[in-house]
Amino acid sequence: MRRMLPLLCAAALLSGCAARSEPTIQTFFAMDTTMSVTAYAEDPTDALVAAQQAVNRLDALWSRTRPDSDIARLNAAAGTGAVAVDGDTAALLTTANAVAEESGLAFNPVLCPVMDAWGFGSTESETTAVHRVPAQAELDELLPLTRDLPLVDGDTAALALPGQAVDLGGIAKGAAARYVVDALTQNGVERAIIALGGNITALGVRPDGHPFRVYVRDPRGEGEDYLCLIALPDGRTCSTSGGYERCFVADGVTYHHIIDPANGYPAQSGLLSVTVVADDPALADAWSTALFVLGPDEALRRWKSGQGTVAGMDLILVTDAGHVYVTQGLEEGLETLGEEAGYTYEIVRR
Ligand code: AMP
Ligand code: MG
Repeated sequence: MRRMLPLLCAAALLSGCAARSEPTIQTFFAMDTTMSVTAYAEDPTDALVAAQQAVNRLDALWSRTRPDSDIARLNAAAGTGAVAVDGDTAALLTTANAVAEESGLAFNPVLCPVMDAWGFGSTESETTAVHRVPAQAELDELLPLTRDLPLVDGDTAALALPGQAVDLGGIAKGAAARYVVDALTQNGVERAIIALGGNITALGVRPDGHPFRVYVRDPRGEGEDYLCLIALPDGRTCSTSGGYERCFVADGVTYHHIIDPANGYPAQSGLLSVTVVADDPALADAWSTALFVLGPDEALRRWKSGQGTVAGMDLILVTDAGHVYVTQGLEEGLETLGEEAGYTYEIVRR
């Protein structure tokens, strides 16, 4: 039984089976994606309005397309000097830089010119984007713009080189989850499932005291096929990155939207998808993208080493060959669903 309800509904149903009241689901579009907050409370109306307002505020700060956003102003000033930014923008840029440094630039917040060359930039919606394979000479010109990270000093930020540009598409949605949690808890909601694009955060546990459970998508499936079901404890975030999310085909070759900053091409690291479960939603989001670029051997090496940020997370790595590595912290509550589709599963321990 691999075909199931869409993830959000499924999460809501599973989590709601013993709820005091029916959950209230608020769905909205922000940060270029569909978001939903499923709250379990007597009357979560104010909390849900506050949650959506929090995301809209961040979208207005972090969008590349709104000319007055912090990120648009930072990009417009590239090579000319620093711009004043909101404290939340400075904090996000600092986190993005930290992941970039620790990942050896596998996560790269200034990859924007290269992504635009492929038509994956977030200046265009998926329906109007013109995808194309850039010439090597074009990539060779753009790649030097991706080597210097944004400079953050207090509440100012700067890009050193003209033509540089920031795109926070790989981290902003996860980062927003923290603000949604705050908005909900400040308005009396103690139990919720927050789904911001590929990032799902659990606030509280189910009314029966067990953790919420969420489906992880089958990266080779149709969108309603699932690889597994996992428990998501209170306060944790599950972020998935996969090439299937945005891609195009040219001359029979599929090109996807997660770019390897080393060569400017879609990452071919041997992975179909990476799921990260972590306490910090921004780090879950950014590292799912970074580990997709780094590949299974490097991801597992970092996790097994017991040192660094990745070691404190749990991972689900799906290889091109259909092998699924699941780190030991996710074993309890794991339900595998992809055997019929040819997946094999392995619990990784240290
Ligand atoms: P995610 O779905 O979180 O993995 O983020 C994918 C998005 O991050 C893409 O649509 C791009 O906007 C951006 N992106 C692609 N490759 C990278 C990379 N290597 N580092 C940082 N951001 C990236
Ligand atoms: Mg990400």
